[in-house]
Amino acid sequence: MKHKKIQGSLIIFLLVINTLLFYILFIMEFDPPTDSKTLADTNTHTESNTDTPSNAESKGTQSISFSSMLHPLLVERGNQLIQKAADTGITVVVTDDYRSAEEQNQLFKKGRSIGGKIVTYARGGESYHNYGLAIDFALKTPTGEIIWDMKYDGNNNGTADWYEVVHFAKSLGFEWGGDWDQFKDYPHLQMDFGLTLRDLQKGAKPDNSSLTATPSPK
Ligand SMILES: [Zn+2]
Repeated sequence: MKHKKIQGSLIIFLLVINTLLFYILFIMEFDPPTDSKTLADTNTHTESNTDTPSNAESKGTQSISFSSMLHPLLVERGNQLIQKAADTGITVVVTDDYRSAEEQNQLFKKGRSIGGKIVTYARGGESYHNYGLAIDFALKTPTGEIIWDMKYDGNNNGTADWYEVVHFAKSLGFEWGGDWDQFKDYPHLQMDFGLTLRDLQKGAKPDNSSLTATPSPK
């Protein structure tokens, strides 16, 4: 009798110890390190949708999903641009890529028939965006703010980040809207593949052989 009682309490004792050990191990295993939490947070922010390019937000520092209507070479070079900038400590945000003619017409109304500032001089079909051959960029600060400040030197290397991005973009074959004589479009980067807007309006398409070639910046 006495023997059984001792055996019983021993089993209970062992069970309690076991549970405690298990509990301790469980806590150690599953207490999430703070790093992984911030990582997860960042991931949710980097997931973005390019189908509504006007409010497209940051899409991460390495590669982003562009509109499926954007020319493949611009997708490739756009991602390279983002990567190059990231390597230099600059976060580039692509705020706009492909725009349908209707979206372009809507944008054209801004500052004209509807309020706000004029943001474009191109109607539907008059912008390289309408043919998937242009992207617009902005910068993202460490606090997550999207800025168009051309003097901002976030990586503190003595050169404004904006111009560093422009430099990279040109080396990747982009033409910069800031180089235009008439309407300077500083966030704008495009590749024309030697095609004028008139050519494109008439239905001309970029030559497929130019997919591998770097279009020379003008
Ligand atoms: Zn643009």
